[in-house]
Amino acid sequence: MTPTHRRTPGLARAIARASLALLALVLTGCATLTPAQEQSVAEVRAMADRTARLYGLPPIHLLVSHNPQDPPGSFRRGYFTVSTLTLTSSFRDAIVAHELGHYVLRHDTPFAGASSAEIERDYQQRELDANAKGVEILIRAGGFSEARALRTMWEYLSGVQWALERYPRMNLRGHKTPCEEIADLLVRFPRQRGWTAALECAPPAVGEGPGPT
Ligand SMILES: [Zn+2]
Repeated sequence: MTPTHRRTPGLARAIARASLALLALVLTGCATLTPAQEQSVAEVRAMADRTARLYGLPPIHLLVSHNPQDPPGSFRRGYFTVSTLTLTSSFRDAIVAHELGHYVLRHDTPFAGASSAEIERDYQQRELDANAKGVEILIRAGGFSEARALRTMWEYLSGVQWALERYPRMNLRGHKTPCEEIADLLVRFPRQRGWTAALECAPPAVGEGPGPT
């Protein structure tokens, strides 16, 4: 008897589900998209091509996931994925720039850490770095001003924070909390402090803490 036959029905179902999701990815080219989604795919592809050119990298493939269980975006070696929901979301540009940030930062390399705690920390750091690189990509490849690019990424992270506050059991998929990610991001763009200092989750500025003035 091969190990396959000893699998529990539950496991078999899980594997079937995962395979179907994979198939959905592979078949994306044939799946039907609405005209608005098609238009969005073209824009996202153009953004990815511009980013690859600007950073001197080979072109990266775009896959569209039709599986509502998938994250809004993800990055793997050689391709990145956005869900059909993302295509027509106002958060699209932030999500795409974040995934392209992983690509530009070459986050397909293995983690340096040995222990699971180290790997968890490295993973979280990559997510923070992808947010910041995403802002840079919105500026360089998207033609956004720094303020607009930062606001675009902040709005998305605020949206995740909003959702987390309402659904505390939401799967953060290895990220720090969105509020922590926002604090890290805003610190990296000190020129925008005029309007970001008052935002929710903004970190206190050095010297602004309580105490004698
Ligand atoms: Zn990420």
